[in-house]
Amino acid sequence: RAKRHGPGRVALADPGLAESINRQLRLEVELRDAIDNDGLVLHYQPVVDAAGTVVSAEALVRWMHPEHGLLPPDVFLPVAEQGGLMRDLDRWVLRTALRHAAAWPDVGGRPVGIAVNLAGLLPDDHGFTAEVTDAIAESGIDPNRVVLELVETVLVDLPPQPRRAMLDLVERGVQFAVDDFGTGYSSLARIKDLPAQIIKADRSFVADLGAGSRDLAVARAVADLARALGCQSIAEGIETAEQFELLRGVGIDVYQGFLFARPVPEAELIILLENGLPLLSRATGASVNTA
Ligand code: C2E
Ligand code: MG
Ligand code: MG
Ligand code: MG
Repeated sequence: RAKRHGPGRVALADPGLAESINRQLRLEVELRDAIDNDGLVLHYQPVVDAAGTVVSAEALVRWMHPEHGLLPPDVFLPVAEQGGLMRDLDRWVLRTALRHAAAWPDVGGRPVGIAVNLAGLLPDDHGFTAEVTDAIAESGIDPNRVVLELVETVLVDLPPQPRRAMLDLVERGVQFAVDDFGTGYSSLARIKDLPAQIIKADRSFVADLGAGSRDLAVARAVADLARALGCQSIAEGIETAEQFELLRGVGIDVYQGFLFARPVPEAELIILLENGLPLLSRATGASVNTA
């Protein structure tokens, strides 16, 4: 009897599952609509150098859902993945972020970089180079300001053709960053061949940093490895002044985290670019309280 019905039959007869499938499909339809009709919004998180000056910002997508409010990517990227919408989502983010960033003011006489995460629009897609160069041309942004963030697993074992597509963009000034570095499975032998100019140490290394800790040793190794490969190193997820001090001490190049700024709407980012970060004096250790 159990056999005749089988696990699939039983499952489909389960009203709870039918409901959750329905919900999933409805979310996919709503997300499709949000991508097509500007229902998504970009927040931007500043990235600073060792002196606390903003050097770039990372675009982080949110969904303004009509009933559920502002949804974080962790909630709806799986829906996009599931529904095959990731490539279109990435394309929207890329175009929107570059258009925004093209109009941002310089900081300290330097243009501010813009980092975009890619998970569905990838170097091994046919037309990757064209998508990126079109978005750059349309926005009018200087390609030297554009950073594309990809996770390690996408970058290792990349066949020659997509590797050439990336190098083609690099020749035009675009930079690639390995996001969440250290959480993938690539061997050191592979890392030396990553076609990337920036290495972004994962937030998990930063969380438990302490003087003399093993995490600090790992952070130092990432900074050294990046330097040896001619790459820039970024640490993300910095929440305390102590973490910032320790990471500066091991030679990380640039820094990102709630200590400096949370991801903010574009209008707020522009205010931060014009006026500097409110926490700057505290973050850099220049005391505001000493009499
Ligand atoms: P990610 O690219 O590694 O982005 C960094 C995430 O860490 C962001 O979460 C950011 O808000 C968070 N973060 C930054 N500083 C701190 C900190 O000091 N403490 C803590 N606890 N968290 C911090 P968010 O915005 O929720 O994004 C999560 C992930 O979703 C991103 O990780 C990225 O993988 C993905 N994502 C976000 N936006 C996009 C997008 O436009 N396209 C694609 N394909 N993926 C995106
Ligand atoms: Mg990222
Ligand atoms: Mg990351
Ligand atoms: Mg991530």
